Amino acid sequence: MSKYKGKKVLIVGCGTSGIAAAKFLVKQGARVMITDTKQRTELSEPLKELGDLKVEFEFGGHTERSFLGAELIIVSPGINIPNHQLLQVVKQKGTPVTSEIELAVGELEQPLIAITGTNGKSTLTTLIGEMYKSDQKPAFMGGNLGIPLIEYINQGQTGQVAVCELSSYQLEMTEKMVPAVAIFTNIDQDHLDRYGTMENYIAAKKRLLKVCDRNSWVILNYDDPVLQGFANECSGKLIWFTMKDPMKVGGEFAEKFFGAYFDETRNSIIAKVTGKEEIYPLETFKLFGDHNKQNLMAAICAARVMGVSQQGIQSCIGTFKGLAHRLEFCRKKDGVYFFNDSKATNIQSVQASLSAFKRSPVILIAGGKDKNMEFAPLAPLVKSKVKLLILVGEAKEKINRALGDFAETYLVGTFEEAVLVSFQKSRNGDIVLLSPGCSSQDMFRDFEERGDYFKKLVNQL
Ligand code: ADP
Repeated sequence: MSKYKGKKVLIVGCGTSGIAAAKFLVKQGARVMITDTKQRTELSEPLKELGDLKVEFEFGGHTERSFLGAELIIVSPGINIPNHQLLQVVKQKGTPVTSEIELAVGELEQPLIAITGTNGKSTLTTLIGEMYKSDQKPAFMGGNLGIPLIEYINQGQTGQVAVCELSSYQLEMTEKMVPAVAIFTNIDQDHLDRYGTMENYIAAKKRLLKVCDRNSWVILNYDDPVLQGFANECSGKLIWFTMKDPMKVGGEFAEKFFGAYFDETRNSIIAKVTGKEEIYPLETFKLFGDHNKQNLMAAICAARVMGVSQQGIQSCIGTFKGLAHRLEFCRKKDGVYFFNDSKATNIQSVQASLSAFKRSPVILIAGGKDKNMEFAPLAPLVKSKVKLLILVGEAKEKINRALGDFAETYLVGTFEEAVLVSFQKSRNGDIVLLSPGCSSQDMFRDFEERGDYFKKLVNQL
């Protein structure tokens, strides 16, 4: 009999993962209530998924009664737990409070490849999933990206492995999960509007390191100073990836190197994770920028230790096209190249995109909703690469104060104006790059709506 049978479960948040958790729990015989601060009319899309499953609802706010009456509470990643008064009350009372991810890993029958970091999670998750596919091995890919992990359980978990993107929000409640592979792409300032300090943000990410055991592979970015520090607290089997040649780093790192690095002279990734050296040429790799080489290295390490063949990986390198809204090429018009990087919602991702353009002058469109970011670290790249800075949205004044002295800068009132000015001011060979460094919710529903609108405007030029 299911341990959830007859249990009163409260799901806080009626998003995709909350709905998928409700489906799972109802099938297990639980008595499920979903509570959300939004009204039913605003939630009609996710609610469709539930069909006629027996679930109770509480819309337009949460009541103390529903929290106190629950025997288990599942909290959606959007909820800020320490600031949530009712959650603090029930926690003190001793009611178990957990997440959809923890619920799912308790049921997962296959190895878990867990991916976190500030940037590159979605690209890396998809890359690894595609490597499995290229090798004719079924794999689930999802989590924070696309399908929630509990939905994979609902659908009968038919893959060989679950490749799962995990945001810091999802990791906050992680306790039971023991990943077969844990990957950390990088750590830089992000979500400071929720965490307040970098320490708190890093602590949330570090939850994934803490749950690894001695059999877990832990894949870390050697080029990231914070992640170098993670190595000291790692109880798993450590694998590095780096843009540096380990022989040039020298010492013990070179002698005992286990992982992957980029060999510039051979334009190849060299991987040492199987007992012999493997070479992955990059002539056919379509993604721009060193950051995507880093993503690829991490993916190769994970896929190889999990038994994906070298041929499967090499074939994926040639076919992988990247994801929409991540340094996505849109169009060439009158000699000007337009790129949509709407998913760049923090400083590091803007740095990565600007660095990807080695020679051409860049017209950068930035701005949006500020996440309490410090924009000054962008100054050197703006100075060296950006011909014109076009600022839009809520954060435009703040960005102007931090960066306006390093390039010719325009503050515009609308997104349409931003695109129009970018084109009017461009010349043959220029790059127009939308890489906002901010989230989108000041003007759009999400980064996808922003990127799609940018592409539409660009295509109308
Ligand atoms: P995430 O899921 O972590 O948000 P994405 O793959 O969706 O990561 O990419 C988000 C943004 O970060 C995009 O602008 C993309 O170009 C950039 N990016 C992708 N990989 C990296 C990386 N390894 N380092 C820095 N920036 C990256």
